[in-house]
Amino acid sequence: MLRLRCCEVIPTRPLPTENGWVTLDGSWPVQAYFTVNQTPLEPRRKLHHGKCLPIDVTHCVRADANKLVVRINRSRHDKSPFNYAVAIEVVGFATRESITQACMKRLVPSERILSTIKKAMTSDDDDLIMQPQCFSIHLFEPFSNAKIFDIPVRGQDCLHREAFDLGVFLDTRLERPTQPPKDRISKVDVWRCPICKADSRPQSLIVDGFLVTVRQELASKNLLKTRSINIESDGSWSPVREAQDDEETEDEATPAPKKPVEVILIDDD
Ligand SMILES: [Zn+2]
Repeated sequence: MLRLRCCEVIPTRPLPTENGWVTLDGSWPVQAYFTVNQTPLEPRRKLHHGKCLPIDVTHCVRADANKLVVRINRSRHDKSPFNYAVAIEVVGFATRESITQACMKRLVPSERILSTIKKAMTSDDDDLIMQPQCFSIHLFEPFSNAKIFDIPVRGQDCLHREAFDLGVFLDTRLERPTQPPKDRISKVDVWRCPICKADSRPQSLIVDGFLVTVRQELASKNLLKTRSINIESDGSWSPVREAQDDEETEDEATPAPKKPVEVILIDDD
């Protein structure tokens, strides 16, 4: 599928990168008219659709040279800001398996991640008044905040150290189940980081090799319930012990009768 999108841009800055572009909201200026190969396009505006949506141009495009024409109907005396960019976007399909395999090829080695963390902690930036002696990373995946990730990923533009779980992220992109059940696919424009809203399309995800090793080590010590770790400036790390851990230890010493488990369904919409 090919689609046309128009977004407002800041004229004093370079055009956004692809990762930045996909995070911009669409905007169809009322003075602009678009044709592809002389086929007029009807912008899907906010008034009728809740927000400005892309236009599907697949049916207008041929396997040859194509021509997109944008006409601006604006008085030459009109000096109001008019700064827009357009892009033809390609929308494709990928299976869960192919996304997972491709992500694993973009695993950032543990040493590289750890060296950037250590560098940030030992930075001698004059603007920083106080350097943290240790650095904390929350490990539970953000959708449930109830379990550690299996495959820790984040967008390549994300500036935070926390990761989200690839499997849960893919599950939560899918459309609602239908009755009768059928194969579910995801929507197109739902690929934003759950932590910082940066671009997190499948091709923009990286796997955090350091957190992969953290998970392996915690698993080997039966500590997968660890919510967060502290990293020291020398790169060593340790699980953060919480008050709840102590309570669990006491509980184990004098086991209480088990209560029935309540299951609460949480709808992400
Ligand atoms: Zn992020």
